[in-house]
Amino acid sequence: MKVAQIENGILVVKEREDEKLDGRKGAIVKVLGCGLCGSDIVKLKHNLVKDGTVLGHEIVAKIVDIDSDTEFRKDDVIVTSHHIPCGKCEYCKNGNVSMCRHFKETNIRPGGFSELVFVSDEHLHNVAYLKPENLTEIEASFYEPLGCCVRAVKRANLNKNSTALVIGLGSIGILMAQASKAFGMNVIGTDLIPSRVDLLKNLGIEAFCVNEMCESIKADCVFMTSGSDKAIDTALKYVRDGGKILVFSSTPNNFGYANNEIYYRELTVLGSYSPSPADLRDSLELLKNKEVKVGGLSTVYPLEKIQKAINDTLDNKIMKAYIKIS
Ligand SMILES: [Zn+2]
Ligand SMILES: [Zn+2]
Repeated sequence: MKVAQIENGILVVKEREDEKLDGRKGAIVKVLGCGLCGSDIVKLKHNLVKDGTVLGHEIVAKIVDIDSDTEFRKDDVIVTSHHIPCGKCEYCKNGNVSMCRHFKETNIRPGGFSELVFVSDEHLHNVAYLKPENLTEIEASFYEPLGCCVRAVKRANLNKNSTALVIGLGSIGILMAQASKAFGMNVIGTDLIPSRVDLLKNLGIEAFCVNEMCESIKADCVFMTSGSDKAIDTALKYVRDGGKILVFSSTPNNFGYANNEIYYRELTVLGSYSPSPADLRDSLELLKNKEVKVGGLSTVYPLEKIQKAINDTLDNKIMKAYIKIS
């Protein structure tokens, strides 16, 4: 099978021995395609994982071999995420499922940018679903990233009709804005790039270029989906006194929010990372009901062009890459 693996800071397509069940419970799936996530790029760019690692976790795949007591059958096309919380540890009990050690250890093997992947029985039981028939394979690949956004909206725990400001309208910002709207918020989006602002407007959500933002906008919650250090100032400018800033992206210089500003203005700054099974379930519903629209966001690349997909994403030439594998 072909995989795209990390070698010296880039992704290289290599031949490997086929992934097989070999007595394990679960499924071997043929990956139809896999979305390229911002976190994949961060891991690659900052050398966070070792050579030989296969990235990718936003898969849509067809079952080719299965040993499981779930309802799934050979030839089913499924979506799945990669991590599963144990449900029993202190993190899980306190709602921080994405900090659960079991969550961090579980994964699809070797990773989504591979022709064949092993999906464990635990995945099939907890985080895998049949691809809804009304979604294309590319639309369905937003199951996991939208799950992350659903989690963020839930963690922000806002009253209905609160004002949510989404800073950074890359693909995640576009999902976050729509998810916030689906949960009853009044949503405004902002970005430096006019075409991204227009994209959100075309989805029926108010949006402005950063330099055209009205000074009087005061958000109950700012969702920080921008990976730029400068955006932190924008967040502090537009969050209302007593409001929340939900951090949803790493930034290159790892600057913080000013201590005194948090103190004097009674701000709440909180993070949100990776989705629980319940968030994923909600994500699939939002996609199925077309409450979150993802058509046209993706640009398709073959596995051999995955490094180009990464470069084009970094250069802001595209919104989101979908790596078509079979
Ligand atoms: Zn992701
Ligand atoms: Zn746990």
